[in-house]
Amino acid sequence: MAIATLNPTTGVVERTFEPHTAAQVEEILERAAAANALLRDTTFAERSAWMHRAADLMDADVDVLAALAATEMGKTIGTARYEVTKSANGMRHYADNAERYLAPERPVAPVEVGASAAHVVFQPIGTVLAVMPWNYPFWQVIRFAAPALMAGNTGLLKHASSVPQVALYLGELFERAGFPAGAFQTLLVEGAAASALLDDRRIAAVTLTGSVGAGSAVAEAAGRNIKKSVLELGGTDAFIVMPSADVQRSAEFGANSRTQNSGQSCICAKRFYIHEDIYDEWFEAFLTRMRSTTPGDPFDPATSFGPMATESVRAEAHALVADAVSKGVTVHTGGELPGGPGWFYPATVLTGVTTEMRIYREECFGPVACVYRVGSVEEAIALANDSEFGLAASVWTTDADEIALLQGSLEFGAVFTNGNTASFFGLPFGGIKDSGYGRELGRFGIREFVNAKTVWTA
Ligand code: NDP
Repeated sequence: MAIATLNPTTGVVERTFEPHTAAQVEEILERAAAANALLRDTTFAERSAWMHRAADLMDADVDVLAALAATEMGKTIGTARYEVTKSANGMRHYADNAERYLAPERPVAPVEVGASAAHVVFQPIGTVLAVMPWNYPFWQVIRFAAPALMAGNTGLLKHASSVPQVALYLGELFERAGFPAGAFQTLLVEGAAASALLDDRRIAAVTLTGSVGAGSAVAEAAGRNIKKSVLELGGTDAFIVMPSADVQRSAEFGANSRTQNSGQSCICAKRFYIHEDIYDEWFEAFLTRMRSTTPGDPFDPATSFGPMATESVRAEAHALVADAVSKGVTVHTGGELPGGPGWFYPATVLTGVTTEMRIYREECFGPVACVYRVGSVEEAIALANDSEFGLAASVWTTDADEIALLQGSLEFGAVFTNGNTASFFGLPFGGIKDSGYGRELGRFGIREFVNAKTVWTA
């Protein structure tokens, strides 16, 4: 894919960028190696001060950065501002908490292991390659970069080819804030070339957020080189509503979840399992909300959601809908490609989805909801678990037994009860099955890229 700013609202290429040459990549890797040697010997206090400064720089640049995200990938200006602010606050969280998350641990009493002293310290492992997507172009990067840098690692960002200006900004941010030169840099290379970087001894590990195909390619290269990888590969998140739930509120939250970021979020609710006792009332409220949520100009503050980020992502989402239509699905709203410029796609509601339809199993990265009627909580759990993905689920009920059953039985990396799935700085984020492995965020996230070193003294 060409490295370019292609405005998804207009379909016009605004800027193009040449990929880095082999010589430039070599220079970047050398700078990263040099920064490693410096950064690993800095203190938490020094890194914290730089991280706070980087957060302040992002806050100061919020208007420019929000416009950049709206231009490069089409998210609304309000949600783009929110994302920039969240990223800055996430940086502050790691600036203030990394030392606590990485405090040495004493898992056993020294006498139990025949020692006078025995504990575990967490040390940086070196340069981590971050292959990142366009959907949350700031937050996806910062949720890796802030903990990694605070742990004393250096980072190399291979961002999605469709958000090069965001990538270049982030590649300069940490140096501007005081981190050693080379501590966090952007590599302008195309997707397929990124996996080959794992063969280089100066790269210690990789994290990727994106599709299953890209994740598999990167994990294969990492495995061949005996290098650690963390993968966040999206999902087909379940949204379960039981009779005791607040019907109107859950319908409103469900529609918001499905249309946020034009449906291009790994933790958007995608499969809705609604108990038959409240199905009609819930469906009417949900459909009304979906019908009134329409795409538009991302720079207009009144717009619900913008265009889809790229022509190919829209084509993939529509292909899933078209496949379902050809096999007899019922389309209650949306489902048709609009004319005119830009990669817009309407909020779409489907019922009657069957196992023969691709959308039953595959992730639809667009504002398309599949709604199912279920007769019991057990049926909802069985259907929700009938998926190759397992990122997150949102369940709506006030029945304590149902809550315990749902939280215990759903095969996902997270279960949110009476609220939409989300990422929080201090809580681990990640999935199971084809949604990937490893965790981002919080104590679990920051410990993915460290050497947990056992230190034993007789
Ligand atoms: P990709 O997985 O292709 O892109 C994500 C990142 O991976 C980009 O930086 C991309 O680079 C890179 N990449 C692509 N192929 C390789 C490879 N062989 N080796 C190393 N890196 C690679 O996602 P798309 O943008 O094509 O979107 C396709 C689908 O992926 C979506 O419809 C959605 O289902 C899923 N997705 C999930 C996301 C999530 O949040 N979990 C985010 C984005 C997508 P480049 O841009 O240069 O190709």
